[in-house]
Amino acid sequence: MISWHYLCKADLSPGKGPLYVDENGDANMEGALIARDKVGVQDFVLLDSHTSEAAFLNNLRKRYQENLIYTYIGSLLVSVNPYQELDIYTVTQMQLYRGVNFFELPPHLYAIADNAYRVMCNEYNNHFILISGESGAGKTEASKKILQYYAVTCPTTEQLQTVRDRLLLSNPVLEAFGNAKTLRNDNSSRFGKYMDIQFDFKGAPVGGHILSYLIEKSRVVHQNHGERNFHIFYQLLEGGDKDLLCWLGLERNPQKYTYLIQGRCAKVFSINDKNDWKIVRKAFSIIDFTEKDIEHLFGIVASVLHLGNIQFEEDSNEVCSDALRCLSSLGYLYFQVLSPLNVDLAFYARDAVAKAIYGRTFTWLVNKINGSLANKVGFFFEQFCINYCNEKLQQLLIEMTLKAEQEEYELEGIEWEPIPYFNNKIICDLVEQKHKGIISILDEECLRPGEATDLSFLEKLEEKVGDHAHFVTRKLADQKTRKSIDWVDFRLLHYAGEVTYCAVGFLEKNNDLLYRNLKEVLCNSKNSIMRDCFLLSELDNRRRPETVATQFKNSLTSLIEILMSKEPSYIRCIKPNENKEPGKFDDFLIRHQVKYLGLMEHLRVRRAGFAYRRKYELFLQRYKSLCPATWPHWHGPAAEGVERLIKHIGYKPEEYKLGRTKIFIRFPKTLFATEDAFEYRKHLLTTWDGGRSIKLEAFWRGALARRAAKKRTWAVQTIRKFINGFINRKKPLCPENRDFVRLSQYYYLMKLRDHLPKNVLDESWLQPPSILEEVREFQCKGLSFSHQLQQKVVTSAVFSGKKEGYLESLGQPFLETRLSEFSKPLEASLAGVEMLIPTRCFQYVTPVIKYDRNGFKARERLLVLTQSSAYVVEMAKIKQKIEYSTLKGISTSNLSDGIVVIHVPEDNKQKVGNWDTAPVSWCLK
Ligand code: ADP
Ligand code: MG
Repeated sequence: MISWHYLCKADLSPGKGPLYVDENGDANMEGALIARDKVGVQDFVLLDSHTSEAAFLNNLRKRYQENLIYTYIGSLLVSVNPYQELDIYTVTQMQLYRGVNFFELPPHLYAIADNAYRVMCNEYNNHFILISGESGAGKTEASKKILQYYAVTCPTTEQLQTVRDRLLLSNPVLEAFGNAKTLRNDNSSRFGKYMDIQFDFKGAPVGGHILSYLIEKSRVVHQNHGERNFHIFYQLLEGGDKDLLCWLGLERNPQKYTYLIQGRCAKVFSINDKNDWKIVRKAFSIIDFTEKDIEHLFGIVASVLHLGNIQFEEDSNEVCSDALRCLSSLGYLYFQVLSPLNVDLAFYARDAVAKAIYGRTFTWLVNKINGSLANKVGFFFEQFCINYCNEKLQQLLIEMTLKAEQEEYELEGIEWEPIPYFNNKIICDLVEQKHKGIISILDEECLRPGEATDLSFLEKLEEKVGDHAHFVTRKLADQKTRKSIDWVDFRLLHYAGEVTYCAVGFLEKNNDLLYRNLKEVLCNSKNSIMRDCFLLSELDNRRRPETVATQFKNSLTSLIEILMSKEPSYIRCIKPNENKEPGKFDDFLIRHQVKYLGLMEHLRVRRAGFAYRRKYELFLQRYKSLCPATWPHWHGPAAEGVERLIKHIGYKPEEYKLGRTKIFIRFPKTLFATEDAFEYRKHLLTTWDGGRSIKLEAFWRGALARRAAKKRTWAVQTIRKFINGFINRKKPLCPENRDFVRLSQYYYLMKLRDHLPKNVLDESWLQPPSILEEVREFQCKGLSFSHQLQQKVVTSAVFSGKKEGYLESLGQPFLETRLSEFSKPLEASLAGVEMLIPTRCFQYVTPVIKYDRNGFKARERLLVLTQSSAYVVEMAKIKQKIEYSTLKGISTSNLSDGIVVIHVPEDNKQKVGNWDTAPVSWCLK
């Protein structure tokens, strides 16, 4: 089983995506060549000034304004969110892209999806599609569209349909629990999603699983202005029926719940929670959730809302017991735990429980839908984690691009020209290095005994990584930058740009402590989902749990490992404006994304060497008409053909290189000139070829017509002859009726063959047609046949069915013309015989080969049959006369070898010296 993957990066970071990578993304070039004059270029690799950001933006803008939202950079797809429904995702479109060469059609998501699928099927390797871009750029939509594409185009059976439905339907459920309205996107995924689709060897999807990494748990307890909590809370309140809400102890009005109103936009015009609720409820039933599961799940959602409404007072020393009492009302076992906390800590504990419950439930949900990975995180802290993730992905991808380029050059025997690029490994190390990296320092601060605070953490950072080129704090910064950094901040110079993080909360969020006694309560819950999420074994484990950052680092490492083993495809999504407005191309915003998505860098890497590369065979096939030596056919090796071709059209040495299997062309303008020449040539060829084919067609039509006319004439003549023959059938044989008579004879005899009298005395002869006078006469006279016919009939009766060549021999009449077929010497020899036997007595003459009994020596002779005797003649001499009356018998071979043995009596032998005792045989020719 092989799998194909796509990965949707979490869009938690403020607009920084990882860089790309691309291996040999040149396949779409021909399509780009054809369409280049229509709206910009559809592959940035063909931009003349590939280093100019302005040219890049121009091209993107030009296309976006024509609703062409997709453009390639090699095999990487750049997508700009159209913020309107475009008519490019129909089933017809899907079919159009299915199985078609990448370069033959305009850029599309489907081309990427189809290409990944086909490469996977052909090469039996795994593939992933990485979709990245800032929040609202269209990643989630892209992933859904790809999934739909596979659902429609992959071969399927009824059984597979279930897998497919589950994959498609898991999405609304995950989105309800993992997406929320943010300022940037009304449906922003607050978790990273890695969906894995498995195909069998025939390319049919047979299964899949989803890994989620990182859910933004802090959103459960806190939202910024203009943002909401996760959709599911609002959906439940808005859409859940009365009984359900009553059972959960909930009111319909979201304003009643502290956890839902901090963003002050519980209700937004653009989101229809009621409708979404219906979709989610329906999805649950299809993806195999039991009613009990669903009951427990909503019990948890409700308990989070209730938890949020718990308040604490200073003088109570049983803070937690309030919370527990509340939990008990939701079916938790109630028992009292005393925990001496002040009000702040009590609120902290409350939020920690809410976050833990929701976070783990989300993981449980993903697990339930399929496979799982870690989750976690907080605010600046979480941004820090996400950006670290982006750095890692970028590093992976740039390594993959460069590696692929380098490998190709090596394979093709072309000297590797180093491509200058920024290696962000240095930043990854800054974050993740053991003992020396930021995460290690943070863990150390969290775990060490004594008073550790966010500020002491910041000091440790300054102490240990203060001299790192990508790390700045206010203390370390120069005069100018100092102003923009607060005392509690640290700044990282990420690949994608500078990000300032406030260290406040890092320690606390990294610990993600859940008080042991609260955990105990949750472990003992009656709610089965809670029991799955909080295992009793966790309580026995006295070891400190891994910190959040370390857990994240580990899950990231395994993700990278997964990706390393697969072939990549990339989609980069761009958000065109902040207002979700169709058609609006905000230059400033887009320039920012182009930069931080690393698109220019990617283009540079792709263009650093050669703009175009193509296998010799394909290049020759396309352009062979440009050189007389290669047109119309080149019979030698394709590489030599290409060499002749480019020599003929005058490529300069610096413009190209010849690899082992491919030609590499450095500049787009060289390729464009070739393409222009090809277009012109094509035009000429079509007109010339067109003329030629019209002529050919005319000739062929003429030939067909002549053939048909000839056939008609023949038919007319045949019919006329038949009619003439019929009219003259009663006349003696003459040219007018000969064929007709022969036909009648033929049919009569063929019929007679099957209806011959059983014996000689049988007179029941088949009635002959009137024109066969001869036969009629015989029949009238009863047995008085002519001797010859009688012999024929008898012979026929004797040999019928016994002689191999019987049917064949039937057709051969004893032709009187045999004589005229003789060769000259035979005629000469017969001439002499005529003196001895008068010609009129000849009944039959035929050349034969006589075999001597001694040694079977072959001798040429003539056999002359008269009315009464047979003569063997050689050179005007009668060698032997056999009177029929003395014949002892005749034997013939039953094969078609023409052997006849004539048995003669002893005394006859004595008359002719060289005839030994009978039998003597001739071979009749
Ligand atoms: P992201 O996942 O990158 O944050 P989404 O995929 O959720 O962004 O897209 C945000 C919104 O943009 C969608 O809700 C949808 O309205 C719009 N959108 C994105 N891609 C497309 C598209 N290809 N066609 C039409 N609308 C789109
Ligand atoms: Mg999304």
